[in-house]
Amino acid sequence: MFRLVCINCGAEYDQSEIIYRCSKCNHLLTVKYDLESPGFTRADWNSRPLSLWRYKEILPVTGEPVTLQEGGTPLYHMKRIGEELGLKNLYAKHEGLNPSGSFKDRGMTVGVSMALQLGMKTVACASTGNTSASLAQYAAKAGIPAVVLLPAGKVALGKVAQALMHGAKVIAVRGNFDRALEMVQELCLTEGLYLLNSVNPYRLEGQKTIGLETVDQLGEVPDRMVLPVGNAGNISAVYKGMLELEELGFTDKIPVMTGVQAAGSMPVVKAIAEGLEVLEPQKDPETIATAIRIGAPVNAEKALLAIRQTGGTALSVTDDEILEMQRDLARKEGIGVEPASAASVAGIKKMAEAGLLDKDEKIVCVVTGHLLKDPETVIRQCDPPVEIDADLKSLRAVLR
Ligand SMILES: *Cc1c(COP(=O)(O)O)cnc(C)c1O
Ligand SMILES: [Zn+2]
Repeated sequence: MFRLVCINCGAEYDQSEIIYRCSKCNHLLTVKYDLESPGFTRADWNSRPLSLWRYKEILPVTGEPVTLQEGGTPLYHMKRIGEELGLKNLYAKHEGLNPSGSFKDRGMTVGVSMALQLGMKTVACASTGNTSASLAQYAAKAGIPAVVLLPAGKVALGKVAQALMHGAKVIAVRGNFDRALEMVQELCLTEGLYLLNSVNPYRLEGQKTIGLETVDQLGEVPDRMVLPVGNAGNISAVYKGMLELEELGFTDKIPVMTGVQAAGSMPVVKAIAEGLEVLEPQKDPETIATAIRIGAPVNAEKALLAIRQTGGTALSVTDDEILEMQRDLARKEGIGVEPASAASVAGIKKMAEAGLLDKDEKIVCVVTGHLLKDPETVIRQCDPPVEIDADLKSLRAVLR
């Protein structure tokens, strides 16, 4: 059993209500479970395969979920990059290995399941790309239509390809992501579509399992979790999951939450650095990491709390630093990610070089999306293949 609760005024809403924000004060909602007498044990979880649904008692879905077998992603020890940075315990949780190639699938399996549970007939979102790819895929699985709004010309090729192929109604808005989100929120409220951006509290319920799986894979709560921050939903979700583990008595440790943004799109970094109570939106965010090109993060209020309450930090990295780390991950660790994902590890590199990290710290970087999401940015960084005549003499010549 759960309730929807406003994080600002504490107003409570019944789970059957279609509501995205508090109707009294307009702040964000969160899902609260009764964890005092949970009716399950850690052993129940451990008896199930590693997957988002291992944690079903603290998820809001009561019926059959709409699932494509999301979660259960690998946790890699980054030995080479770790050695270079003097960090023995540096890990990457590869969320690019979810069904649509990003962690958004964790949010969408729960979100689309909830859409059906609530009797909604059509789902919608605004997206920098991955949310739309994922929603299109889960709507297809559920057999319901999806409407997605994208900032025109600012979405990586692979993501648009997915949204189109899986049959979503794809609309390119001549404006940035923040404007597209305003529009789709208005549309959902007036036309009765179900909104599946990360303002939807159920999406974050799915995403919190990134942290829960990490704890189970590592055998302990890491000292630090590092995430790229766009709309700031994921970092908020992972923190919430950790708080619930604590409330359940399964741990008494919470990781230091560390958010990384691109230098051209860093409203959260600014809010943390300046101690702002309320985040100031950035007008024209720009970065090669299009998944985090967001000036007015919807979940800022939750994310600022997550960072501040854990003694964490938010820092920025340049596009060059992001791309360099994308290449390092690919070539030194065999981990293929899109640019936004490399930001988390680039942020750790920057902190290590500034002497801000303990060499024994157990650090888990969430790498959020797959390399093939943005093939154009990959190709631009690489030398083209060497073309030769079809004979062995030419082959030997180029290898010499
Ligand atoms: C959505 C996304 C992010 C940002 O996550 P938020 O929850 O919006 O902060 C980062 N990386 C990738 C690949 C994404 O798709
Ligand atoms: Zn409220």
